[in-house]
This record gives sequence, structure tokens and C-alpha cells, in this order.
Amino acid sequence: MNHTEKTKAQLQNELEEIRQQVTELKAEVIKSSRIMEQSPISIIITDTKGNIEYVNPKFTQVTGYTREEVIGKNPRILKSGEISPEGYKQLWETISSGDEWRGEFHNKKKNGELYWEYACISAIRDPQGVITHFFAVEEDITEKKHLDDLLRESEQRYALAAVAANDGLWDWDLEANVIVFSPRWKLMLGYEEGEIGKHPDEWFDRVHPDDVNQLKTEIEAHLKGPSPYFESEYRILDGDRNYCWMLCRGLALRNVEGKAYRMAGSQTDITVRKHAEERLQYNSFYDSMTGLPNRALFMDRLERMVEWAKRHKDYLFAVLFIDLDQFKLINDSFGHKIGDKLLTAVAQRIQACLFQRDTVARFGGDEFAILLNDIKEVNEVERITDLLHRELSHPFMIDGHEVFTSMSIGVVLNTTGFNNPTNMLRNADIAMYQAKVIGKRRSVQFNTSMHEKVVERLWLETDLRRAIEQHEFRLFYQPIVSLENGHIIGFEALIRWQHPERGLISPDAFIPAAVENRLISSIGRWVLREAVWQMHTWHVKFSTKPPLSISVNLSGVRFTESDLAAQIDNVLQEIGLPPSCLKLEITESVIMENAKSTISTFSELKALGVQLSIDDFGTGYSSLSYLHRFPVETLKVDRSFVSRMESNGENSAIVRTIIRLAHDLKMKVIAEGVETVEQLTQLRKLKCEYAQGYFFSKPVDSKAAEALITAPPFILDELNTTQEGN
Ligand code: C2E
Ligand code: MG
Ligand code: MG
Repeated sequence: MNHTEKTKAQLQNELEEIRQQVTELKAEVIKSSRIMEQSPISIIITDTKGNIEYVNPKFTQVTGYTREEVIGKNPRILKSGEISPEGYKQLWETISSGDEWRGEFHNKKKNGELYWEYACISAIRDPQGVITHFFAVEEDITEKKHLDDLLRESEQRYALAAVAANDGLWDWDLEANVIVFSPRWKLMLGYEEGEIGKHPDEWFDRVHPDDVNQLKTEIEAHLKGPSPYFESEYRILDGDRNYCWMLCRGLALRNVEGKAYRMAGSQTDITVRKHAEERLQYNSFYDSMTGLPNRALFMDRLERMVEWAKRHKDYLFAVLFIDLDQFKLINDSFGHKIGDKLLTAVAQRIQACLFQRDTVARFGGDEFAILLNDIKEVNEVERITDLLHRELSHPFMIDGHEVFTSMSIGVVLNTTGFNNPTNMLRNADIAMYQAKVIGKRRSVQFNTSMHEKVVERLWLETDLRRAIEQHEFRLFYQPIVSLENGHIIGFEALIRWQHPERGLISPDAFIPAAVENRLISSIGRWVLREAVWQMHTWHVKFSTKPPLSISVNLSGVRFTESDLAAQIDNVLQEIGLPPSCLKLEITESVIMENAKSTISTFSELKALGVQLSIDDFGTGYSSLSYLHRFPVETLKVDRSFVSRMESNGENSAIVRTIIRLAHDLKMKVIAEGVETVEQLTQLRKLKCEYAQGYFFSKPVDSKAAEALITAPPFILDELNTTQEGN
């Protein structure tokens, strides 16, 4: 009994203990299932075959599947197909043997969207140690992956930029507002490592007051979103208190909400490019020898004046066209140097006779033009022309020589009618011609009966029409030479007019008239066909590797013809010349006049497979930053820069900048008008690919061109050694 009693009490105790344990266990289960239910990462429990028994709400949220849709299924329903079967096999082997597996999955959601997951899978065992379930926790790491990629990409970019361009780097922690500048960044401004701190104002305070707002706006635009990357050009003060030009590029890193938390970028010194641009801009509006405005600027001012006068009835102005008398004689007897100095001195004397408001321009050679503004009475013009003649009658002292000169002046007033700028200038020119005819040192005012010159122009037109019909045009060919090996790589086709009475006429003497009369289109068609045919004939006769190419000049008028690409395509197909052997040359000014339509015409031409060159580069426009928009292979540096290369360091700098810029844009460079060994040597040093000029050969007829093709290559290295040996 006692025994029974004791046992009962004992049992009671044991039962109580078990109840206690069950209660604790229940609390534990509730607790852990709540943990699973509320977990911010996905949890999956499968049986040993991999059939899903449990998924938590986070899983359904990430994948888009409901619990009912996945219970009993295999997790393979999430497979994106991007993980190899071997990968899965290895996973199973690991977890089946009881080891833990960790790794990344590229999975697919119910809606097909891909996402990245980091998973940890382990076995659940019963008290005997037998595996009963697998337990997987999975974290969505898509965003992190994306950021990693971005970071890697931008880091690579900066590393590249730093190596390639010798750039300075900066890295800005936007939250702490701390910016780290690389040693190179500081050095570019002439500072040592410790001399520049970590506040953004170290940067902004040095930027030119005129540029700083723009810079901040551009940064803001990128941080706030609208611009995909940040890029800005500005002036910044260096340690010597000089401004240098910088190009700054950057990219922001953003958090999940898209808010930028860090921004990093590079800084490139573009001072040389900027100065070359300024110089080019100056060159395109001013005459480099006299410093006077050139024809382009003059025409611009004249046009404004014409417009102004239209609105102000009694406004009087005049155009004077000036040509020095027998200047050629001075040039021939004293030499070009003195000729040039004389022109500069004449320019100064002319200027001294005029008011500030007037414009005097040099049109090239010994031609000048004056725009006299706001004339009160007609006699005033006469007083000025008299003054000009008087001023010029005093001799010039140049390099110890006493040089005499005089000028002929043609005058046109806006009261004569025909008031558009071109007509006014032409009429002034006609009047000047009259002044020459009646004797030097005269001024003649244009009147409407003075039409000889105009009539001559008409003759030219009739003659030109006949020339087309009678096949009086010829093509000459000038070789383009590789500066690497002296081989001829092709020819430029240059037109000549074999006039029955006047002999061989150069293009400059008739192309402008042909353009004015729209005859240039039919001339251009003939040139294209003839040049393509000639090159085809040469391909058949002489095989070179690579095959020779032919360059053909396109005038602005041709360039606006809507069927230009079709015309070219037809000719190439008919004759059978590979399109890649045809190069079209378009002058820089034509390109800039039609910048917008050019891009589309260029892409049509590109689609044919022909090559494109920018001709006379450096003479036509003001900004190099447009260049990259045009898909051209070659850039031809204008003769005016090449010819002044050796005497003038500034021109060498321009040529160097143009070449470097072209190379940056993956373009090849042809130097035009190479005449001397010195130019050649310099160009080779600057890694200019090709050259063309009298040094190698003048433009020659097709027969002489054939002789050039079969001749041995030009020897370049010997020149170099002679040059260096000297
Ligand atoms: P461009 O296309 O710039 O051609 C180069 C000009 O420079 C040619 O003058 C050539 O003879 C000349 N040249 C080449 N090397 C040297 C050199 O070393 N020194 C010097 N002083 N001059 C050199 P060209 O043949 O009188 O042609 C003048 C311009 O007429 C050409 O300039 C081109 O714009 C135009 N042109 C020529 N043929 C055609 C054509 O078929 N169609 C059109 N639309 N224009 C043409
Ligand atoms: Mg050309
Ligand atoms: Mg040219």
C-alpha cells in the first residue's frame, strides 16, 4: 500500500514534469513558428525528397506564389535555368550527407522576373539522428548585386580613365559631405597631398565665378535624376592663381530608393584643347597676318547693316573694295616677307583713317574691304577715299627698304539699290575694277551702267554650259601618301577646265561661278563618274594591297541633293568599284552650315560603305566639340596650318591638337599642302597618318599618276636621318 501510494505520488510528479515540458515545448514551437512567420527572409522546409512542406509569408512575398501553389511542389519551380544541373547535383549531395550548403541562386518569380538569392540549406534530424527534413533560409540580394555591378563598373571606368588620361579622381560621400581628391587631382592644380582638404568647397571655391553655378546645376541634375551621368567643363584656379580648363565627369551610386549616397568621378585638363578652340574661333573670323576681320566677319556685319538700313529709311552706308596696285610686283622684287609686312602696315594706315564704328577687313591677298557706317552725306565718302589715297602716298619703311604703293578703290552706296550683301560687294568689286582700268590710285563709285564685270560673269556661265556639253573638263590626280611607309594609298581627284581659248583653268576660278549658277550639280556628277571609273581601271591594271582609294570633293550644293546617296550607289554598282574605295570630301564649312542635315546625309552615305573626310579642317567653324557627332574616318588639316608649321610654334600647336583630337575620336589625319621636309618630319613626329602636297607630287593627269603608282614608295626614313643628322 505504502509502495502503491509512493508510486502514485511519483507518477503524479513525473506527469507534472511532462506537462511542464509539453507547455514549455509548446511555447517554444509557438515562438519559433512566429519567428519563421515574421522572418524578413524567406524560409522553406522540404521533406527528404525535396517536396515543400512549409514556406513563410516572406517567401510568398518575394516569389509571388501563394502557399497553396507551392506546398507539395519541388523548389525547382523557381529555377531560372541559369544554374547548371551539376550545381544542383552538388547541392543535393551536400545536404543529403548532412552538411550545410551555402550559395547564390538566380531564380525566377511567378511573373517571370529574375532575382538573386543567397541561400543556406541544412538538414533537420530526428532524435535518432535520421534526416527528416531540409531547412532553407534565403535572402533576396538582387539590389545588392545590382549595386555591386554598378560599383565594379564605375570603379573599372575610373581606373581606366585614370590610367588612360592621367586624370585626377574624386570621391564624394554625400551623406557625410566629405570629398576625397586623389593626389593627381591636387597635383593638376599644383598642390601637394596635404594642401587640399576634404570639404567640397575646396573644389567649388576654386572654380571660376562665371562657371560655378553651371557646375553646381549639372551636379544637381545628375543627383536628382534627370541626367544619366554628370559632365561639366569649367575653369579652375591653380596654385599660381591661373585658370585652367577642366572637364569633369562623374557618376552617383544610389540606394534602393534611388537616392544618391555617393558620387565619384574624374577631372581632365582640357586647357590646350580650349585654347586651340579659341584660336580656331579667332582664325575663322580674323585674318591672322593683319589681325583684321576676315571676309566672313565682314559679310556678317554687312548683312546686319543691310537689315538695319531696311528699317531706317534715310540711313546711309557704303562698302569700299580696295586692291593694292601692282602688289605682285612688290612681292616679286622684294620677296614675300616684305610683301607681308607691307600688307600689315597698309592695314594699320587704313585703320587710322576710319572711325571706331567702321569695319575694315582683309579678304586675302592684297584685297581689303571697308564698311563705312552712318554717313551723313555722300561727300563724306569722297573725303575718306581722298584721305586713304593721301595716307598711302607716303612711302613705307620696311626692313630698311623704302616701299611705295597705292590702291584702287571701288565704292558702292546703299542708295544704288541691289542691296543684298553679296550684290553690294560684287558691285564694289566691279567699281574697283573700273578704277584699275582708268589708271591706278583711283576711286570709282559704282553706277548701274557699270556692268562689264557682270557681263563677263554671264559669259563664264555660257562658257561653262558649253564646257559641260563639249567635255572640256579634265580630272587631275594628286597622290595621298602613307607617312608610315611612303606608299601611295590613293588619289584625290581635282578638276581642271581645258578652255579652248584660255587654256587650263583651275577650279578656284570657275567653281564659285558654277555653284552660283547651279551648274555644279552636273559638273559634280561628271567628276564622280569619271573618278570612280578611273580608279576602277587602275584596280584592274595594278593590284595593290590594300587597294587604292579615290577621293572626290563634294560641293555644298551637291550635299543638299536628296538623291545623293542613290546617285553614288548607282555609279559604284554600274562601274563595279567597291564602295570602301571611294572617299567623299566635304569641307568643314559646308558641314557646319548644314550641321543638322549633315548628320542624316552622312549616315545615308555611311550605309553605302563609302568613306567620309572633312576637308580644309580648321578654317570653317568655332567648336571642336561638334566633331564627334559626324561619323567620318578622316580629317584633312587645312594647308594654311601645315604651311605655317615650321615658322610659327602656335600653328604647330594647333596641328598637334587637331591630330590628337582626331585620334581620340578614332579618325585618321591627312595633312594637306605638305611642301617641305621640315613639315614632313614634324607631321611624322605627331603621328599624322597621311600627307598630300607638292612635296610628293602636284596634281597630275592620269598618265603621270600611273607612273607614280608603279614607282617605288617615297623614302621617308632617309629624310628623317638627314634631318636629325644636320
Ligand atoms: P582641296 O579639296 O582642298 O584640294 C587641295 C588643293 O590644294 C588643290 O588645289 C591642290 O592642287 C592644292 N595643293 C595640294 N598640295 C599643295 C601644296 O603642297 N601646296 C599648294 N600651294 N597647294 C597644294 P586645286 O586643285 O586648285 O583645287 C582647289 C579646290 O577646288 C579644292 O580644294 C576643292 O575644294 C575644289 N575642287 C577641286 N576639284 C573639285 C571638284 O571636282 N568638285 C568640287 N566641288 N570642288 C573641287
Ligand atoms: Mg579636297
Ligand atoms: Mg583641302
